[in-house]
Amino acid sequence: MDVMRLDVTLRPTRRDVARGISTTIATSMLPWPALAQSAARIVVIGGGFGGASCARALRRLDAKLQVTLIEPNRIFTACPFSNEVIAGLRQLQAQQFNYDSIAAEGVKVVAQAATKIDPQARNVGLADGGSVSYDRLVLSPGIDLRFDALPGYDEAAALKMPHAWKAGEQTILLRKQIEAMEDGGTVVLAVPAAPLRCPPAPYERASLIAHYLKNKKPRSKILILDAKDGFSQQRLFEAAWKELYPGMIERIALSQGGRVTSVDPTTNTIITDFGNYTAEVASVIPPQRAGRIAEIAGAADNTGWCPIDPTSFASKLVPNIHVIGDATIAGGIPKSASAAHAQGKACAAAIVNMLSGKSPETPRLTGACYNTVAPGYAFSLSGIYQPRDGQFAEVEGATSPVDAPRDVRAREAEAAENWFKKITVDIFG
Ligand SMILES: Cc1cc2nc3c(=O)[nH]c(=O)nc-3n(C[C@H](O)[C@H](O)[C@H](O)COP(=O)(O)OP(=O)(O)OC[C@H]3O[C@@H](n4cnc5c(N)ncnc54)[C@H](O)[C@@H]3O)c2cc1C
Repeated sequence: MDVMRLDVTLRPTRRDVARGISTTIATSMLPWPALAQSAARIVVIGGGFGGASCARALRRLDAKLQVTLIEPNRIFTACPFSNEVIAGLRQLQAQQFNYDSIAAEGVKVVAQAATKIDPQARNVGLADGGSVSYDRLVLSPGIDLRFDALPGYDEAAALKMPHAWKAGEQTILLRKQIEAMEDGGTVVLAVPAAPLRCPPAPYERASLIAHYLKNKKPRSKILILDAKDGFSQQRLFEAAWKELYPGMIERIALSQGGRVTSVDPTTNTIITDFGNYTAEVASVIPPQRAGRIAEIAGAADNTGWCPIDPTSFASKLVPNIHVIGDATIAGGIPKSASAAHAQGKACAAAIVNMLSGKSPETPRLTGACYNTVAPGYAFSLSGIYQPRDGQFAEVEGATSPVDAPRDVRAREAEAAENWFKKITVDIFG
């Protein structure tokens, strides 16, 4: 795998765009004090799409770096394609990856949760009482679900009304509930306001559950209660629903009273400003924030997300800490696996430059997001993002056409599978 080639592509090719992996060279910013690179200790917290990409890229860019990846789970379970698991189209094992290849490249993988961060002492405390010192720390903890934000929805309620917004047990729980539902039941999806992890994924979930119900329980319905009016790739989704699942999916938008204000897990009731809905199966996706360790580090602001400098990924709040992936709030770049992967590589390149006293290069990140609405039927959204006025701005973007024929949708479904294979091989393979 020629990672260096990918990280320094001057202009991304179409293939690179689809893979979500290129950064470009340009110079800006003042250099940071150089540190003897051979001595540098880089600690990365979180072994998901952002953190694992970053840890691996750091070692590939400079084999002398001492890179430690802190991640409590020995097996990572990926969210992209987890909606297919819910719909019975895929097994959870196809979503799971270990850290053996990353460790074999010289990254020290510590199977612990980080529980404390002391930015002055540059030290990370671990759940087992141990600690790890760093010269630079990268945070990629993903999201936490805000169990304080939706009355009635806490960890116990999530066992009745699964969010399945972190893949694993929750994914299987939702799948089992849908499999156990009688024909004629209603599946309710509660969708929060932005910002959220993978904005189009709730609608992909509705589509794939509809596919399952159409084949197995055709009298059933899906109701989306949405805290937003418009949503990503709305015209494409709605056209697909009309074509594939006529009359099966109903959506109540924010202005129609769709915002969920509380839930009652004892009766599976979802309450909005305008009415109460009782569901046979309820998937409640609550509001989100950066993973808790970001707040412990002092890197999250009062929005719950982490402001960063988009050129270096340096935290705007805490020195010597970089933040990547879903945990960041950085303008127009979406919270997606492909963006986290691109950020992980660009952040590694920025750190290597800074350690040798050079300016970080201006990143040009690509993100591609595929939505599968039925087997062999997908569409996509891709964008290129660059720093503008201290944020990431989308400088180019492309969406699948609304009126594309079925063979185009079939090719996009194939491209989606290939994207997932490539990104996971690049990170974990
Ligand atoms: C249903 C669904 C479908 C999706 N589909 C797509 C898709 O098709 N395409 C796409 O690009 N994106 C998709 N996404 C979004 C994608 O999964 C996320 O954007 C991506 O995982 C973000 O990467 P990350 O590194 O920020 O977080 P993650 O990948 O979640 O990794 C975070 C890691 O940090 C670890 N961690 C957290 N706290 C600590 C701590 N204290 N100590 C140590 N480790 C810690 C966690 O265990 C986790 O392994 C989807 C998401 C969902 C929910």
